[in-house]
Amino acid sequence: MDRARQRLLAARHVYIVCHITPDGDAIGSLLGMGTALQKLGKTCTLACPDPLSAKLAFLPSARQVISDPPTDQDTIVTVDVSDIGRLGSAYVAETFRSRPVINIDHHVTNTRFGSINLIRPLPSTAEVVLGLVRRLGVPLDTDIASALLMGLITDTRCFRTGNVTTRQLRTAIALMNAGAPLADLTEHLFNCEPLSTVRLWGQALAAVQTRDGVIWAEISQEMMRRSAATPSDADGLSSFLASTAGMDGALVFREQEDGRIEVSMRAGPGHDLSGVAVALGGGGHARAAGCTVDGPMNRARVRVLDAVVNALRGEAAPGRPEAGALGPPGQAGGA
Ligand code: AMP
Ligand code: MN
Ligand code: MN
Repeated sequence: MDRARQRLLAARHVYIVCHITPDGDAIGSLLGMGTALQKLGKTCTLACPDPLSAKLAFLPSARQVISDPPTDQDTIVTVDVSDIGRLGSAYVAETFRSRPVINIDHHVTNTRFGSINLIRPLPSTAEVVLGLVRRLGVPLDTDIASALLMGLITDTRCFRTGNVTTRQLRTAIALMNAGAPLADLTEHLFNCEPLSTVRLWGQALAAVQTRDGVIWAEISQEMMRRSAATPSDADGLSSFLASTAGMDGALVFREQEDGRIEVSMRAGPGHDLSGVAVALGGGGHARAAGCTVDGPMNRARVRVLDAVVNALRGEAAPGRPEAGALGPPGQAGGA
């Protein structure tokens, strides 16, 4: 924390970037960090390799976000990025090698690729950013607080995930006291689904399958076209599937334009899919993880399902409940 603070205080022009296919924690952390550093008089370039969905584009300062890779900035900050693969086109090896990289994140699978790594096992990266903003002595304003509360409510699915404690509720109160409009944010995030999302989910839900305590849905490019969907329309579907009673795991397989398959994973309480996600080239948290594997769909489904079923079975060691016989239903963790 102190090294990150010192580096940022010494910086003049900071490049801040979040992960590809950004969620509310990625964008909230990006805007919160950027706005706070701007208040300190720093020049900031705010970047995200992929476009923002309408759910996020309304946030104050979202218009500042560009998709260019870093150029002549003297310091790089990554937020909510677990490994360099998640930077997509924003990763330029030479630029990242030649200047300080502050890696701010909350993923257990973080590869510590920064020269300074500020990784805390909190439900959202936005909370890690908040800690740093406070250490920098920047008073919270409405813009910073709104961005950070967006991050917190995205990754906790509005305080419904198993990792929420009074700390997150206290943080939310502090952010609301600083002007963050909780009701507005939840309205945008949870009550403004585009029609394309509803159509896409309809197709996917009509064909869900289950095996060995795992429920899954598949989204093809053809389904994406038929519902005029963009990748972000699939967000949230794995968490919804994970709310099915009696399931230990939930998966959504989505065929990308390049034919590779993006897999979103959710695990029930007491389970951990972060290891299998890493083994498949991805990462994440115990109860919310993901990876991108080679297509076609048929091969990806077999490979990932086998690995996930084995991982969930392998956990059912003596003295622990058998997979499928777990106690109370629970929400899958956030992203
Ligand atoms: P999602 O299912 O997209 O909400 O993502 C759940 C969690 O898994 C997030 O914390 C992501 O950072 C992580 N994740 C998803 N996809 C990947 C991937 N391809 N590589 C690494 N981590 C991923
Ligand atoms: Mn994220
Ligand atoms: Mn996150």
